Amino acid sequence: MYDVLTSRYTFSCPRHGQSRVSLSAFRTLEPLAGTGHPVVYRVRFACGCGDEHDGLVSHDELDWAPLGLEGGVFLNLMTSRVEPIATELADLAASRIGAGEWPWSFFCYPEERPRPVFPSSFFLLTPGDGALGLGVHCPVCRRTSVNVVSHEHVDVPFHNDREVGVVEQVFPDDLSATLEEFRAELWSGSFDARRLSL
Ligand SMILES: [Zn+2]
Ligand SMILES: [Zn+2]
Repeated sequence: MYDVLTSRYTFSCPRHGQSRVSLSAFRTLEPLAGTGHPVVYRVRFACGCGDEHDGLVSHDELDWAPLGLEGGVFLNLMTSRVEPIATELADLAASRIGAGEWPWSFFCYPEERPRPVFPSSFFLLTPGDGALGLGVHCPVCRRTSVNVVSHEHVDVPFHNDREVGVVEQVFPDDLSATLEEFRAELWSGSFDARRLSL
């Protein structure tokens, strides 16, 4: 499902059979009720065919696979051999996290501070103006923030924008009820810049 070499998820597309998209092509994520552990997420993604489709992603594929913390191989360009990737990437990710670097972060507006986060806390991604509106359920205070970030901020682990736009609004817990309205209005407002250094 997730290919660590290309940073892409594979889903099925009714038109092309298969679709390979990056995390920033996700539009909504919601945990499926009753799946228990491990949690499975229903994802709506923007497909290359121009439509949006639904797919399923496991918690591991969302949060750990991009860090190489699942099985996988890579092509070692020095030796031209395919080698197991998991250990090396996992060690690298672990040491960076140990040094205080986080693969993903966001600015929690209700708490007025940056926070580390994992993609399973994202619930809404909506593109516009070359950027991405990113809705996050804060893993700490449980409230909702919307940041305006680059695509790389989402797609590339450990790439954190130095500054993000913050929508200065306290959202209802159930934003999904007004999601379409929100998507339409997001890009007509203005954002306040906040530094993301943790
Ligand atoms: Zn498609
Ligand atoms: Zn928070």
